[in-house]
Amino acid sequence: METKTGRSCLFCGDGLRGRTDKRFCDDVCRNRWHNHSRRAPKMSDRARSIQRQLIKNRTILLTLLRTRKRCLVKRETLIRAGFYFEVYSHVNRSGGRVKTYCLDVGYKNRGGGCVEIGVSGEGLGIFQ
Ligand SMILES: [Zn+2]
Repeated sequence: METKTGRSCLFCGDGLRGRTDKRFCDDVCRNRWHNHSRRAPKMSDRARSIQRQLIKNRTILLTLLRTRKRCLVKRETLIRAGFYFEVYSHVNRSGGRVKTYCLDVGYKNRGGGCVEIGVSGEGLGIFQ
């Protein structure tokens, strides 16, 4: 015998019948609800353009670095290549010097309008 619980399915909103601890109509609604809640939210145009610039910044740093471990470049050179200093993934302030990263490639400010570019060290954790 089915009884109305006065509550509704978390996924489709239909009235629930049967056991009082039910949260979904059936397995279909339960699976859909779990699949839906696990999915990452849709990227906005703004989020996508920030992500594109972050990747572009990383590419510019790597292009200037070539095969070297580190190198010194003028900030002007980066800006002319299309680098945006406002867009970065994270900052590391350990060791008394601020290192700004575009994912795994970073830079720190040096005197004379220059920055030193370097790849994130291995074996030190992803945010080193
Ligand atoms: Zn349902």
